[in-house]
Amino acid sequence: MLITNGRVLTFGAKHQIIEDGGILIQEDKIIEVAPSHVLEARYPQEERLNAQGMLVMPGTIVAHTHFYGTFARGMYIPGPPMKDFPEILQRLWWPLDRALDEEGVRYSALVPIIDAIRYGATTLIDHHASNRFIDGSLDVIAEVVEETGVRAALCYEVSDRDGPDVALAGIQENVRFIKKAREMNNSRIAATFGLHAALTLSDETLDRCVAEAEAIGHRGFHIHAAEGPADREHSLAVYGIPTIDRLAQRGILGPETIVAHAIDIDAWEMATLRETETWVSHQPRSNMNNGVGVADIPTMLRGGMKVVLGNDGFSNDVFEEMRVAYLLHKAERRDPRVMPADQLLQIVMSNNAALAQQFFGQTMGRLEPGAAADIILVDYDPPTPLTIDNFPWHIIFGFDGRKVDTTIVAGRILMRHGHIPHLDTERIYARSREIASDTWKRYLTLLT
Ligand SMILES: [Zn+2]
Repeated sequence: MLITNGRVLTFGAKHQIIEDGGILIQEDKIIEVAPSHVLEARYPQEERLNAQGMLVMPGTIVAHTHFYGTFARGMYIPGPPMKDFPEILQRLWWPLDRALDEEGVRYSALVPIIDAIRYGATTLIDHHASNRFIDGSLDVIAEVVEETGVRAALCYEVSDRDGPDVALAGIQENVRFIKKAREMNNSRIAATFGLHAALTLSDETLDRCVAEAEAIGHRGFHIHAAEGPADREHSLAVYGIPTIDRLAQRGILGPETIVAHAIDIDAWEMATLRETETWVSHQPRSNMNNGVGVADIPTMLRGGMKVVLGNDGFSNDVFEEMRVAYLLHKAERRDPRVMPADQLLQIVMSNNAALAQQFFGQTMGRLEPGAAADIILVDYDPPTPLTIDNFPWHIIFGFDGRKVDTTIVAGRILMRHGHIPHLDTERIYARSREIASDTWKRYLTLLT
């Protein structure tokens, strides 16, 4: 397939805008990037996809999300407003994940993946929980990933919160699925070892997870840590050391591990995350919603830390998450120079891509020969000149996911002119409403 007539933003080492640019795709890879007329002359027989002057750029990547949170939208939570993060976990997320059955897991993955295709997010790193349907739950999500055509890295969040049998089942689900993902050898499905959060995992369980991962030759975990004051207070009260120190002692950190949030950490914990080359995932919309504080991302970036951007289950519109990050840190620091758009774009296009490359073993986040053909066409008509230098500010002040016209993953067109031909989205949404309604009823019975 030959994409023609686009304003191609290449990203990567030789980041440039190719006006009236084209991209040759064969199977799931980019073969050549050049002006349209050059490629048209060279490959006259190739099937064409006319970009009609739209921006052509790599699909976006979500570093931390939760498909399973889909049915929380509009859900009634009895009682007074939740006063802090532990209450949000106990009254919203934990009974909701217990209420999910197989069909609940399937549809709670289908809906956000449809959103991802619409908004141009081509790769998602998910963190799953459904504590009354654990065994095989990652297979159900993998089937949805397979059917919808996106790329996803999956894991199950092990936790002691529902007792030792449930913790063990979570461990087994990670081990089983990591092995299965290797055997599947599917370039769009990857696996890692999920852990819920430092505050719901005992030392014994963490040690068990490390041992089980080692036994199958797997490196790296995906865990929440220091998401608000409760995690730090719990760690100090029960273990006598701060959260990140404890995770380091237990062997959880490292270049393949993702720590989501890292808000309530001190300078030495930040240094530990840096020394261990651990990925730190930032989710500003979620942090604001939960009232858990603001991660010191500007300082982490100053230290060259591996910061990535996730969404924690908010919409898969990465441009929206970028905009919130852009505003939040300026407000918090009272300094309009903090978190400039070009730095933010570096996080999203370069760091998120480097993380995804670890999972999928291919070049991502750039349009160049040999890279994954994960490409979006954005129908953005700039009212001011758009250049390679000011493009990040066009994103912050002019973009949103709804401007994405075409989404391509691994060389397959998943959406064209806003239409997703292989998915009956109306039927999926209608069925999702029915399943959500049943899930909400079960949720109320499971609320303790
Ligand atoms: Zn999360």
